[in-house]
Amino acid sequence: MNAYETIKAKRDGRELPSEEIRAFVDGYVRGDVPDYQMAAFCMAVFFRGMSDAETGALTDAMLRSGEVLDLSSLPGAKVDKHSTGGVGDKVSIALAPIAAACGVVVPMISGRGLGHTGGTLDKLEAIPGFQVRLPASRFREVLAQTGACLIGQTEQLAPADRRLYALRDVTATVESIPLIASSIMSKKLAEGIDALVLDVKVGSGAFMKRLEDAETLARALAGIGRNMGKKVVALLTGMDQPLGCAVGNALEVKEAVELLRGRGPPDLREVTLALAAEMIVLAGRAPTLDAAREQARGVVRDGRAFLKLCQIVEAQGGDPDALADQALLPAAKGTLDVLAPAAGNVQAIDAEAIGLAAVALGAGRARIEDPVDHGVGLLVHKKVGDRVQAGEPLCTVHHGDRGRQTPQAVAERVLRAYQIGEHALSPEPLILARIEG
Ligand code: URA
Repeated sequence: MNAYETIKAKRDGRELPSEEIRAFVDGYVRGDVPDYQMAAFCMAVFFRGMSDAETGALTDAMLRSGEVLDLSSLPGAKVDKHSTGGVGDKVSIALAPIAAACGVVVPMISGRGLGHTGGTLDKLEAIPGFQVRLPASRFREVLAQTGACLIGQTEQLAPADRRLYALRDVTATVESIPLIASSIMSKKLAEGIDALVLDVKVGSGAFMKRLEDAETLARALAGIGRNMGKKVVALLTGMDQPLGCAVGNALEVKEAVELLRGRGPPDLREVTLALAAEMIVLAGRAPTLDAAREQARGVVRDGRAFLKLCQIVEAQGGDPDALADQALLPAAKGTLDVLAPAAGNVQAIDAEAIGLAAVALGAGRARIEDPVDHGVGLLVHKKVGDRVQAGEPLCTVHHGDRGRQTPQAVAERVLRAYQIGEHALSPEPLILARIEG
């Protein structure tokens, strides 16, 4: 393999043979291909794209750059869910126990919040004692004991992706469908799953702002899964406003627990149950999506899903009492209501702006090494289509004393994220499309 020739071939739009892609990635991992050549390659891919075969070969090379977990000794189908990231997306915290309570084995490797989107690991760490860094042996044990385990990416899983992602981040090559798809799928396939459900978010708070782009990404992800012999279903779901009402780590844990108690916001319930139904069917635990949804509703209704979350939390070192007595979760130092300046109907909420307002409070990080304040965040009271009177709270800012902006400055940001007008709006569908691999 000659790295220069590989870059040149891609630059000129030629399709690369799988072996050449594999040799290029292997060379990068070994240190024979330097960062500047990999950066040039990524830029060539950014402009020229990749065929399905090339994307598959890239995924396979990144997957094999590290450990691939073998969970075959655990009985039952292993199914994970991956979300492309949004604001207020606490789905995994409720979904994993619901699916596990329905007999699905859920090996879930999640990420941290970065930019305006939150991350499941930060949310879980709001639960006192909860450990997201577990060795593979303990991951297996917790899965065998409870049916689900939620951890962070280890050093050994798809290390080529970790290096490549950091490089793409500083070379303006993140927004490339083949690079995003291979990055996501290499990590997911390293988990030892049989099937995967994708929640591809679309809208102002998502990575993909347009439905066409989200569809292209979903098809690319599903295509890789199919070629690797895994069943993949993608749901494209709306992210034009925060999902549910809570944005911020402990607040989101509370809302996920509310869902498991049979309450919680309807939009969060709809997305969670739709994803749960897909996981249950893919695992062969129900014949149809309707039957699966009924099973999922059943385990929420009879308390088994909540109990399952308590078991998972305990197995991962967390305090399950903090789920029943939420006074044990981190809390904000104070609150400040954001009041509607005039009466009207909420026309839009800029989800990205809400996510960034939560980051400014300290709920997320501007840089990967920034500390997170688990108690702070936003509680959205008025969502798109809701009627509001002048002076009524639109949202409550839960603030600490370590935020990057004052509570008043954050409240002003939140107010600017709202559009209030006279137009009466009917709710937009939340599940926009379903794509099967
Ligand atoms: N998430 C990933 O894991 N990789 C990307 O490239 C983009 C989002």
